[in-house]
Amino acid sequence: MGFKRPWGALGTQDGLFRLTMRALVLLAALVAVAAGTETFIGHQVLRVTPTNDEELQKVQELQDLEELQLDFWLAPRGLGHPVDIRVPFPSLQPLKAHLEANGISYSIMIEDVQTLVDDEQMEMLRGRRGLPVSTNTFDYATYHSLDEIYTFMDLLVAENPNLVSKLEIGRSTENRPLYVLKFSKGGTNRPAIWIDTGIHSREWVTQASGVWFAKKIVQDHENNEGVASILDKMDIFLEIVTNPDGFVFTQTQNRMWRKTRSRRSGSVCVGVDPNRNWDAGFGGPGASGNACSETYHGPYANSEPEVKSIVDFVKSHGNIKAFISIHSYSQLLLYPYGYTTTPVPDQKELHEISEKAVAALSSLYGTNYKYGSIITTIYQASGGTIDWTYNQGIKYSFTFELRDTGRYGFLLPAKQIVPTAQETWLALKVIMQYTLDHPY
Ligand SMILES: [Zn+2]
Repeated sequence: MGFKRPWGALGTQDGLFRLTMRALVLLAALVAVAAGTETFIGHQVLRVTPTNDEELQKVQELQDLEELQLDFWLAPRGLGHPVDIRVPFPSLQPLKAHLEANGISYSIMIEDVQTLVDDEQMEMLRGRRGLPVSTNTFDYATYHSLDEIYTFMDLLVAENPNLVSKLEIGRSTENRPLYVLKFSKGGTNRPAIWIDTGIHSREWVTQASGVWFAKKIVQDHENNEGVASILDKMDIFLEIVTNPDGFVFTQTQNRMWRKTRSRRSGSVCVGVDPNRNWDAGFGGPGASGNACSETYHGPYANSEPEVKSIVDFVKSHGNIKAFISIHSYSQLLLYPYGYTTTPVPDQKELHEISEKAVAALSSLYGTNYKYGSIITTIYQASGGTIDWTYNQGIKYSFTFELRDTGRYGFLLPAKQIVPTAQETWLALKVIMQYTLDHPY
Protein backbone atom coordinates (compact mmCIF):
# COMPACT_ATOMS: atom_id res chain seq x y z
CA MET A 1 0.00 0.00 0.00
CA GLY A 2 1.53 3.25 -1.13
CA PHE A 3 1.21 5.45 1.93
CA LYS A 4 2.28 9.00 1.20
CA ARG A 5 1.97 10.23 4.75
CA PRO A 6 4.51 12.54 6.37
CA TRP A 7 5.87 9.78 8.60
CA GLY A 8 8.91 11.94 9.20
CA ALA A 9 6.83 14.04 11.55
CA LEU A 10 6.53 10.99 13.75
CA GLY A 11 10.16 10.08 13.45
CA THR A 12 11.00 10.82 17.05
CA GLN A 13 10.98 8.12 19.66
CA ASP A 14 7.92 9.66 21.23
CA GLY A 15 6.21 9.71 17.86
CA LEU A 16 7.09 6.08 17.27
CA PHE A 17 5.74 5.19 20.66
CA ARG A 18 2.48 6.95 19.97
CA LEU A 19 2.26 5.31 16.58
CA THR A 20 2.83 1.89 18.12
CA MET A 21 0.22 2.57 20.78
CA ARG A 22 -2.28 3.66 18.15
CA ALA A 23 -1.59 0.52 16.16
CA LEU A 24 -2.07 -1.58 19.27
CA VAL A 25 -5.31 0.14 20.14
CA LEU A 26 -6.52 -0.37 16.59
CA LEU A 27 -5.50 -3.99 16.75
CA ALA A 28 -7.29 -4.41 20.09
CA ALA A 29 -10.42 -2.88 18.55
CA LEU A 30 -10.25 -5.23 15.57
CA VAL A 31 -9.78 -8.22 17.84
CA ALA A 32 -12.72 -7.03 19.91
CA VAL A 33 -14.97 -6.77 16.85
CA ALA A 34 -13.83 -10.19 15.60
CA ALA A 35 -14.58 -11.74 19.00
CA GLY A 36 -18.08 -10.27 19.06
CA THR A 37 -17.17 -7.99 21.92
CA GLU A 38 -19.45 -5.05 22.49
CA THR A 39 -17.76 -1.80 21.51
CA PHE A 40 -18.63 1.70 22.65
CA ILE A 41 -17.25 3.72 19.78
CA GLY A 42 -18.81 7.15 19.79
CA HIS A 43 -20.84 6.45 22.90
CA GLN A 44 -20.99 9.39 25.25
CA VAL A 45 -21.93 9.71 28.88
CA LEU A 46 -24.19 12.69 29.29
CA ARG A 47 -25.04 14.28 32.60
CA VAL A 48 -28.38 15.90 33.24
CA THR A 49 -29.18 17.51 36.56
CA PRO A 50 -32.93 18.07 36.88
CA THR A 51 -33.69 21.36 38.58
CA ASN A 52 -37.49 21.18 38.65
CA ASP A 53 -40.18 18.52 38.78
CA GLU A 54 -40.96 18.81 35.08
CA GLU A 55 -37.33 18.13 34.13
CA LEU A 56 -37.15 15.27 36.58
CA GLN A 57 -40.28 13.76 35.08
CA LYS A 58 -38.87 14.10 31.55
CA VAL A 59 -35.59 12.46 32.56
CA GLN A 60 -37.44 9.64 34.29
CA GLU A 61 -39.47 9.05 31.15
CA LEU A 62 -36.24 8.45 29.23
CA GLN A 63 -35.82 5.21 31.15
CA ASP A 64 -38.84 3.79 29.33
CA LEU A 65 -37.58 4.62 25.83
CA GLU A 66 -36.11 1.21 25.11
CA GLU A 67 -35.37 1.98 21.47
CA LEU A 68 -32.69 4.51 22.49
CA GLN A 69 -30.78 1.78 24.40
CA LEU A 70 -29.79 4.22 27.09
CA ASP A 71 -27.68 2.92 29.96
CA PHE A 72 -28.28 4.82 33.19
CA TRP A 73 -25.00 4.90 35.09
CA LEU A 74 -26.66 7.09 37.69
CA ALA A 75 -30.43 6.79 37.67
CA PRO A 76 -32.61 9.81 38.53
CA ARG A 77 -32.39 10.54 42.25
CA GLY A 78 -34.30 13.76 42.61
CA LEU A 79 -33.89 17.47 42.11
CA GLY A 80 -30.32 18.69 42.01
CA HIS A 81 -28.85 15.19 41.70
CA PRO A 82 -26.95 14.33 38.54
CA VAL A 83 -28.22 11.65 36.18
CA ASP A 84 -25.48 10.01 34.09
CA ILE A 85 -26.52 8.30 30.91
CA ARG A 86 -24.37 6.30 28.50
CA VAL A 87 -25.81 7.04 25.09
CA PRO A 88 -25.02 4.82 22.09
CA PHE A 89 -23.81 6.75 19.07
CA PRO A 90 -27.00 6.38 17.00
CA SER A 91 -29.09 7.74 19.88
CA LEU A 92 -26.92 10.77 20.56
CA GLN A 93 -28.47 13.21 18.12
CA PRO A 94 -32.09 12.23 18.86
CA LEU A 95 -31.50 12.43 22.61
CA LYS A 96 -29.67 15.74 22.49
CA ALA A 97 -32.40 17.18 20.26
CA HIS A 98 -35.04 15.88 22.66
CA LEU A 99 -33.31 17.42 25.66
CA GLU A 100 -32.80 20.72 23.89
CA ALA A 101 -36.44 20.81 22.72
CA ASN A 102 -37.47 20.46 26.35
CA GLY A 103 -35.04 23.09 27.54
CA ILE A 104 -33.06 20.57 29.58
CA SER A 105 -29.36 21.31 29.69
CA TYR A 106 -26.76 18.58 29.73
CA SER A 107 -23.03 18.21 29.86
CA ILE A 108 -20.77 15.61 28.29
CA MET A 109 -19.00 13.68 31.04
CA ILE A 110 -17.27 11.19 28.73
CA GLU A 111 -16.64 12.21 25.14
CA ASP A 112 -16.00 8.70 23.83
CA VAL A 113 -16.54 5.71 26.09
CA GLN A 114 -14.48 3.38 23.88
CA THR A 115 -11.39 5.53 24.34
CA LEU A 116 -11.54 4.91 28.08
CA VAL A 117 -12.24 1.21 27.56
CA ASP A 118 -9.22 1.01 25.23
CA ASP A 119 -7.02 2.83 27.74
CA GLU A 120 -8.11 0.36 30.41
CA GLN A 121 -7.43 -2.61 28.12
CA MET A 122 -3.96 -1.34 27.27
CA GLU A 123 -3.22 -0.80 30.94
CA MET A 124 -4.27 -4.38 31.73
CA LEU A 125 -2.27 -5.87 28.85
CA ARG A 126 0.82 -3.90 29.79
CA GLY A 127 0.89 -5.31 33.32
CA ARG A 128 0.10 -8.88 32.36
CA ARG A 129 2.89 -11.30 33.26
CA GLY A 130 0.97 -14.55 33.58
CA LEU A 131 -0.72 -15.72 36.75
CA PRO A 132 0.51 -14.19 40.01
CA VAL A 133 3.06 -16.20 42.02
CA SER A 134 2.99 -14.32 45.32
CA THR A 135 0.70 -11.83 47.01
CA ASN A 136 3.80 -9.76 47.75
CA THR A 137 4.61 -9.17 44.10
CA PHE A 138 0.96 -9.04 43.01
CA ASP A 139 0.14 -5.78 41.24
CA TYR A 140 -2.62 -4.18 43.32
CA ALA A 141 -2.68 -1.12 41.09
CA THR A 142 -4.12 -2.80 38.04
CA TYR A 143 -7.32 -4.60 37.11
CA HIS A 144 -7.15 -8.38 36.99
CA SER A 145 -8.98 -11.27 35.39
CA LEU A 146 -11.07 -13.75 37.37
CA ASP A 147 -8.32 -16.37 37.07
CA GLU A 148 -5.78 -13.95 38.44
CA ILE A 149 -8.00 -13.00 41.36
CA TYR A 150 -8.82 -16.63 42.14
CA THR A 151 -5.11 -17.46 42.00
CA PHE A 152 -4.42 -14.52 44.31
CA MET A 153 -6.87 -15.98 46.82
CA ASP A 154 -5.17 -19.38 46.73
CA LEU A 155 -1.78 -17.75 47.23
CA LEU A 156 -3.05 -15.74 50.19
CA VAL A 157 -4.42 -18.89 51.79
CA ALA A 158 -1.21 -20.84 51.10
CA GLU A 159 0.95 -18.04 52.52
CA ASN A 160 -1.19 -17.62 55.66
CA PRO A 161 -2.70 -21.00 56.47
CA ASN A 162 -3.30 -20.11 60.13
CA LEU A 163 -5.29 -17.01 59.33
CA VAL A 164 -6.93 -17.32 55.94
CA SER A 165 -9.10 -20.02 54.47
CA LYS A 166 -11.27 -20.19 51.39
CA LEU A 167 -14.88 -21.34 51.42
CA GLU A 168 -16.97 -22.19 48.42
CA ILE A 169 -20.46 -21.04 49.33
CA GLY A 170 -22.09 -22.06 46.07
CA ARG A 171 -21.89 -21.97 42.31
CA SER A 172 -22.94 -19.26 39.90
CA THR A 173 -25.45 -19.77 37.10
CA GLU A 174 -22.55 -20.65 34.77
CA ASN A 175 -21.17 -23.00 37.42
CA ARG A 176 -18.29 -20.86 38.61
CA PRO A 177 -17.35 -21.34 42.26
CA LEU A 178 -18.44 -18.57 44.61
CA TYR A 179 -15.47 -18.13 46.91
CA VAL A 180 -15.39 -16.38 50.25
CA LEU A 181 -12.17 -15.70 52.14
CA LYS A 182 -12.40 -16.30 55.85
CA PHE A 183 -10.00 -14.48 58.16
CA SER A 184 -10.03 -16.07 61.59
CA LYS A 185 -7.72 -16.49 64.55
CA GLY A 186 -9.72 -19.44 65.79
CA GLY A 187 -12.80 -20.20 67.84
CA THR A 188 -16.02 -21.60 66.57
CA ASN A 189 -18.66 -19.50 64.95
CA ARG A 190 -17.35 -16.25 66.32
CA PRO A 191 -19.32 -13.07 65.68
CA ALA A 192 -18.40 -11.98 62.19
CA ILE A 193 -18.10 -9.13 59.74
CA TRP A 194 -19.16 -9.73 56.13
CA ILE A 195 -17.79 -7.68 53.23
CA ASP A 196 -18.66 -8.24 49.58
CA THR A 197 -17.44 -6.52 46.44
CA GLY A 198 -18.38 -6.84 42.79
CA ILE A 199 -22.02 -7.90 43.04
CA HIS A 200 -22.50 -5.52 40.11
CA SER A 201 -19.88 -6.79 37.73
CA ARG A 202 -18.92 -3.59 35.92
CA GLU A 203 -17.97 -1.81 39.14
CA TRP A 204 -14.37 -2.91 38.75
CA VAL A 205 -12.83 -0.72 41.40
CA THR A 206 -14.79 -2.72 43.96
CA GLN A 207 -13.34 -6.17 43.16
CA ALA A 208 -9.90 -4.58 42.89
CA SER A 209 -10.40 -2.97 46.31
CA GLY A 210 -11.56 -6.32 47.70
CA VAL A 211 -8.24 -7.85 46.66
CA TRP A 212 -6.40 -5.03 48.39
CA PHE A 213 -8.51 -5.41 51.57
CA ALA A 214 -7.65 -9.11 51.69
CA LYS A 215 -3.93 -8.39 51.66
CA LYS A 216 -4.37 -5.53 54.12
CA ILE A 217 -6.14 -7.76 56.65
CA VAL A 218 -3.22 -10.19 56.49
CA GLN A 219 -0.64 -7.42 56.80
CA ASP A 220 -2.40 -5.81 59.77
CA HIS A 221 -3.67 -8.86 61.61
CA GLU A 222 -1.20 -8.45 64.46
CA ASN A 223 -1.17 -4.69 64.44
CA ASN A 224 -3.30 -2.96 67.06
CA GLU A 225 -3.79 0.04 64.82
CA GLY A 226 -4.92 -2.49 62.27
CA VAL A 227 -7.32 -5.36 62.80
CA ALA A 228 -5.60 -7.28 65.61
CA SER A 229 -8.21 -6.48 68.24
CA ILE A 230 -11.04 -7.09 65.81
CA LEU A 231 -9.66 -10.49 64.80
CA ASP A 232 -9.07 -11.41 68.44
CA LYS A 233 -12.83 -11.52 68.89
CA MET A 234 -14.39 -11.70 65.45
CA ASP A 235 -14.00 -13.33 62.05
CA ILE A 236 -14.06 -11.47 58.76
CA PHE A 237 -15.62 -12.93 55.62
CA LEU A 238 -14.81 -11.36 52.27
CA GLU A 239 -16.41 -12.26 48.95
CA ILE A 240 -14.34 -10.46 46.33
CA VAL A 241 -16.01 -11.54 43.10
CA THR A 242 -19.63 -11.84 44.12
CA ASN A 243 -20.89 -12.02 40.54
CA PRO A 244 -18.20 -13.99 38.67
CA ASP A 245 -20.29 -14.71 35.56
CA GLY A 246 -20.95 -11.02 35.11
CA PHE A 247 -17.31 -10.22 35.84
CA VAL A 248 -16.03 -12.58 33.16
CA PHE A 249 -18.61 -11.15 30.78
CA THR A 250 -17.34 -7.60 31.42
CA GLN A 251 -13.85 -8.77 30.49
CA THR A 252 -14.73 -10.78 27.42
CA GLN A 253 -17.96 -9.48 25.92
CA ASN A 254 -19.38 -6.29 27.35
CA ARG A 255 -17.49 -4.02 29.73
CA MET A 256 -20.74 -2.43 30.84
CA TRP A 257 -22.47 -5.58 32.09
CA ARG A 258 -24.08 -5.09 35.50
CA LYS A 259 -26.37 -8.05 36.11
CA THR A 260 -25.99 -11.77 36.58
CA ARG A 261 -25.99 -14.09 33.52
CA SER A 262 -29.06 -16.21 34.19
CA ARG A 263 -31.44 -16.94 31.32
CA ARG A 264 -35.13 -17.58 31.33
CA SER A 265 -37.44 -18.95 28.74
CA GLY A 266 -39.65 -16.46 27.01
CA SER A 267 -37.09 -13.64 27.07
CA VAL A 268 -34.11 -12.82 24.91
CA CYS A 269 -32.72 -10.68 27.69
CA VAL A 270 -30.17 -12.13 30.07
CA GLY A 271 -29.51 -11.53 33.74
CA VAL A 272 -31.05 -10.24 36.92
CA ASP A 273 -30.00 -7.27 39.00
CA PRO A 274 -28.52 -9.03 42.02
CA ASN A 275 -29.16 -5.96 44.14
CA ARG A 276 -32.92 -6.18 43.52
CA ASN A 277 -33.23 -9.94 44.01
CA TRP A 278 -33.27 -10.11 47.83
CA ASP A 279 -36.31 -10.90 49.90
CA ALA A 280 -36.95 -7.42 51.29
CA GLY A 281 -39.77 -5.54 49.62
CA PHE A 282 -39.10 -7.81 46.65
CA GLY A 283 -40.74 -6.65 43.43
CA GLY A 284 -41.74 -3.27 44.84
CA PRO A 285 -41.02 0.19 43.44
CA GLY A 286 -37.44 0.82 42.41
CA ALA A 287 -37.04 -2.54 40.72
CA SER A 288 -38.22 -3.62 37.30
CA GLY A 289 -40.35 -6.56 36.24
CA ASN A 290 -38.97 -6.22 32.72
CA ALA A 291 -36.29 -8.85 32.10
CA CYS A 292 -34.51 -6.45 29.75
CA SER A 293 -34.14 -3.77 32.39
CA GLU A 294 -30.85 -3.15 34.20
CA THR A 295 -32.83 -3.28 37.45
CA TYR A 296 -34.79 -6.45 36.68
CA HIS A 297 -35.63 -8.06 40.02
CA GLY A 298 -35.82 -11.59 38.68
CA PRO A 299 -38.70 -14.09 38.65
CA TYR A 300 -38.74 -14.48 42.44
CA ALA A 301 -36.63 -13.52 45.45
CA ASN A 302 -33.29 -15.34 45.69
CA SER A 303 -33.66 -16.68 42.15
CA GLU A 304 -30.00 -15.92 41.52
CA PRO A 305 -27.55 -18.45 42.94
CA GLU A 306 -25.11 -15.60 43.63
CA VAL A 307 -27.73 -14.13 46.01
CA LYS A 308 -29.12 -17.41 47.34
CA SER A 309 -25.63 -18.60 48.30
CA ILE A 310 -25.11 -15.57 50.52
CA VAL A 311 -28.60 -15.87 52.00
CA ASP A 312 -27.92 -19.50 52.91
CA PHE A 313 -24.51 -18.65 54.28
CA VAL A 314 -25.78 -15.78 56.44
CA LYS A 315 -28.63 -17.90 57.81
CA SER A 316 -26.49 -20.93 58.56
CA HIS A 317 -23.76 -18.83 60.14
CA GLY A 318 -26.26 -17.06 62.34
CA ASN A 319 -23.75 -14.76 64.01
CA ILE A 320 -22.91 -12.08 61.47
CA LYS A 321 -22.95 -8.69 63.18
CA ALA A 322 -21.98 -6.33 60.37
CA PHE A 323 -22.69 -6.72 56.67
CA ILE A 324 -21.07 -4.37 54.18
CA SER A 325 -21.84 -4.56 50.47
CA ILE A 326 -19.61 -2.50 48.22
CA HIS A 327 -20.58 -0.84 44.93
CA SER A 328 -19.41 2.03 42.77
CA TYR A 329 -19.80 4.84 41.84
CA SER A 330 -20.89 8.17 43.42
CA GLN A 331 -19.13 8.28 46.81
CA LEU A 332 -21.86 7.40 49.25
CA LEU A 333 -22.19 5.45 52.45
CA LEU A 334 -25.71 4.14 52.85
CA TYR A 335 -27.73 2.25 55.41
CA PRO A 336 -31.26 0.73 55.22
CA TYR A 337 -33.93 1.09 54.10
CA GLY A 338 -34.20 1.29 50.36
CA TYR A 339 -37.63 -0.21 49.88
CA THR A 340 -39.59 1.84 52.38
CA THR A 341 -39.56 5.36 53.79
CA THR A 342 -40.10 3.96 57.27
CA PRO A 343 -36.84 4.65 59.07
CA VAL A 344 -35.05 1.69 60.58
CA PRO A 345 -35.26 1.55 64.41
CA ASP A 346 -31.47 2.03 64.55
CA GLN A 347 -31.44 5.01 62.20
CA LYS A 348 -29.77 7.38 64.64
CA GLU A 349 -26.99 4.96 65.49
CA LEU A 350 -26.35 3.99 61.87
CA HIS A 351 -26.26 7.65 60.91
CA GLU A 352 -23.67 8.40 63.58
CA ILE A 353 -21.51 5.46 62.53
CA SER A 354 -21.73 6.64 58.93
CA GLU A 355 -20.65 10.12 59.92
CA LYS A 356 -17.56 8.75 61.69
CA ALA A 357 -16.74 6.32 58.89
CA VAL A 358 -16.99 9.02 56.24
CA ALA A 359 -14.83 11.37 58.31
CA ALA A 360 -12.15 8.69 58.52
CA LEU A 361 -12.39 8.00 54.79
CA SER A 362 -12.10 11.67 53.88
CA SER A 363 -9.15 12.21 56.20
CA LEU A 364 -6.76 10.44 53.82
CA TYR A 365 -7.23 12.20 50.48
CA GLY A 366 -10.12 14.56 51.12
CA THR A 367 -12.53 12.46 49.09
CA ASN A 368 -16.01 13.80 49.69
CA TYR A 369 -18.75 11.34 50.66
CA LYS A 370 -22.43 11.77 51.42
CA TYR A 371 -24.29 9.42 53.70
CA GLY A 372 -27.79 8.51 54.82
CA SER A 373 -30.45 5.91 54.24
CA ILE A 374 -30.78 4.49 50.74
CA ILE A 375 -34.25 5.85 50.08
CA THR A 376 -33.51 9.37 51.31
CA THR A 377 -30.02 9.60 49.80
CA ILE A 378 -30.48 7.99 46.39
CA TYR A 379 -33.89 6.61 45.54
CA GLN A 380 -36.38 3.93 46.35
CA ALA A 381 -34.88 0.54 45.56
CA SER A 382 -36.57 -2.69 46.57
CA GLY A 383 -35.07 -6.14 47.02
CA GLY A 384 -31.67 -4.73 47.98
CA THR A 385 -28.97 -6.61 49.84
CA ILE A 386 -28.70 -4.66 53.06
CA ASP A 387 -32.44 -4.26 53.57
CA TRP A 388 -32.60 -8.03 53.75
CA THR A 389 -29.57 -8.37 56.03
CA TYR A 390 -30.92 -5.67 58.33
CA ASN A 391 -34.28 -7.44 58.52
CA GLN A 392 -32.37 -10.62 59.38
CA GLY A 393 -31.16 -8.86 62.48
CA ILE A 394 -27.77 -7.68 61.22
CA LYS A 395 -27.92 -4.21 62.68
CA TYR A 396 -24.73 -2.85 61.16
CA SER A 397 -25.70 -3.18 57.51
CA PHE A 398 -24.10 -0.74 55.08
CA THR A 399 -23.55 -0.17 51.40
CA PHE A 400 -20.73 1.86 49.92
CA GLU A 401 -20.64 3.53 46.54
CA LEU A 402 -16.93 4.08 45.90
CA ARG A 403 -15.17 6.58 43.61
CA ASP A 404 -15.67 8.60 41.62
CA THR A 405 -18.50 11.10 41.14
CA GLY A 406 -18.72 10.65 37.39
CA ARG A 407 -15.59 11.86 35.65
CA TYR A 408 -14.80 8.23 34.82
CA GLY A 409 -17.71 6.43 36.46
CA PHE A 410 -17.32 2.68 36.08
CA LEU A 411 -14.15 3.21 34.04
CA LEU A 412 -12.09 4.48 36.95
CA PRO A 413 -8.40 4.48 35.94
CA ALA A 414 -6.36 1.74 37.56
CA LYS A 415 -4.08 4.26 39.23
CA GLN A 416 -7.00 5.15 41.50
CA ILE A 417 -7.49 1.58 42.75
CA VAL A 418 -5.05 1.71 45.66
CA PRO A 419 -6.03 5.18 46.91
CA THR A 420 -9.69 4.17 46.70
CA ALA A 421 -9.06 0.97 48.64
CA GLN A 422 -6.90 2.76 51.22
CA GLU A 423 -9.47 5.42 52.03
CA THR A 424 -12.35 2.94 52.03
CA TRP A 425 -10.40 0.72 54.40
CA LEU A 426 -10.37 3.51 56.98
CA ALA A 427 -14.16 3.66 56.87
CA LEU A 428 -14.44 -0.13 57.05
CA LYS A 429 -12.22 -0.13 60.12
CA VAL A 430 -14.52 2.37 61.84
CA ILE A 431 -17.52 0.13 61.20
CA MET A 432 -15.67 -3.01 62.27
CA GLN A 433 -14.31 -1.39 65.42
CA TYR A 434 -17.73 -0.03 66.31
CA THR A 435 -19.20 -3.49 65.84
CA LEU A 436 -16.55 -4.93 68.14
CA ASP A 437 -17.18 -2.25 70.78
CA HIS A 438 -20.97 -2.53 70.66
CA PRO A 439 -21.86 -6.19 70.85
CA TYR A 440 -25.52 -7.08 70.57
ZN1 LIG B 1 -23.76 -1.37 42.06
